[in-house]
Amino acid sequence: MTVRALRSTYWAMTEIFTGNFTQQEPIPDDAIEAALAVLHHGRLHRYNTAPGELSETALLEQEFATLTGAAYALAVASGGYALATALRAVGVGPGDRVLTNAFTLAPVPGAIASVGAKPVFVGVTEHLTLDLEELERQADQADVLMLSHMRGHICDMDRLAQICDERGLTLIEDCAHTMGGSWNGIASGRHGVVACYSTQTYKHINSGEGGFLITDDAKIAARAVMLSGSYMLFERHLAAPPPEAFAELKYVTPNISGRMDNLRAAILRPQLRDLPRQIERWNERYRVLESGLRDTPGLRIVERHSKEVYVGSSFQFLLLDWEEDKVVDVVTRCAARGVELKWFGTPEPHGFTSRYDSWRYAPGQSLPDSDRILRGILDLRVPLTFSQEDCALIARIVRAEVGAVWQGG
Ligand SMILES: *Cc1c(COP(=O)(O)O)cnc(C)c1O
Repeated sequence: MTVRALRSTYWAMTEIFTGNFTQQEPIPDDAIEAALAVLHHGRLHRYNTAPGELSETALLEQEFATLTGAAYALAVASGGYALATALRAVGVGPGDRVLTNAFTLAPVPGAIASVGAKPVFVGVTEHLTLDLEELERQADQADVLMLSHMRGHICDMDRLAQICDERGLTLIEDCAHTMGGSWNGIASGRHGVVACYSTQTYKHINSGEGGFLITDDAKIAARAVMLSGSYMLFERHLAAPPPEAFAELKYVTPNISGRMDNLRAAILRPQLRDLPRQIERWNERYRVLESGLRDTPGLRIVERHSKEVYVGSSFQFLLLDWEEDKVVDVVTRCAARGVELKWFGTPEPHGFTSRYDSWRYAPGQSLPDSDRILRGILDLRVPLTFSQEDCALIARIVRAEVGAVWQGG
């Protein structure tokens, strides 16, 4: 080999990625304009409206209800707040047990703990979805299941709905990663009695912080509206039940302030209109990563179900049954080349990544089958600031480094 060929091989082997895994796209111009209009008139509080004016928040709720097909929608301060409100609205209280995923994000068990209830964790499968057999075994421990579609992986919702039906479980869905996704033609969030979404910066539409709650149940919707801090102004909502639904509830439902404001709503409305196009773009990038990593020895792709419409805003793969120090090696080598992998197997929680045994306020549980999966999960964000070429490069780097460690034995 000539020196020149050698050098180019060397550089090809040491391609470096320089993108930023936490950099989302800027807020679109029409959203900035809408935000400026709100700033100019100064009526940021959702119930502060000029005569005849419909607030940005009320309009956003109406549009979100239309998008999901739900009868009622409520915009709130965060996804975690939506989850806690959903629990309160279905009647969960201190000492109750609530089933939820062992593999999820901290705001989910946190919401359960915030109402004085106890999370009971249900394990994760190799598809990164809730283990439905384990759910059946644990079903008699609780009346409510808070199902988290963690990282956008949707379990067999037909079977899940059947289990909830048979076992009398009230289903609350955490759709933080499935806004715009669906199962078997039904929008994610439409299987449960209530569904919650997040509009935090790392989710599918970005208002910094924010969230939604949807339901078809008028009582639950009315309770959630009162809980969110509507005072007696619930008639200003466009996606809430009629005043009759509030008749008794308005006296007995506490105000646990957590409203959305008009500034954030103004930013979200144009983004919501743009969501289908953004989903296409996420999925183009997801597919580049998937095809770039498929058939890498030692690496397992998380295969998606044909009934699942997913939003590829993040990508996971498994290094299943690898020794810990080898996984650490892969993470370190990828990081050295600019590729940030999050590992759910670290003994100590880091950054956003924690797991059921990190949440020690919950009763302790041992889930060895899930531990095996969690130890193998590698996760990367796919912000839309990455091009498809960026994703191809990321896949080449991960493939090369997994290969190097795998062959190293
Ligand atoms: C982001 C997220 C939430 C809600 O988070 P907030 O930051 O409170 O909006 C809930 N569940 C999962 C799985 C999440 O990733």
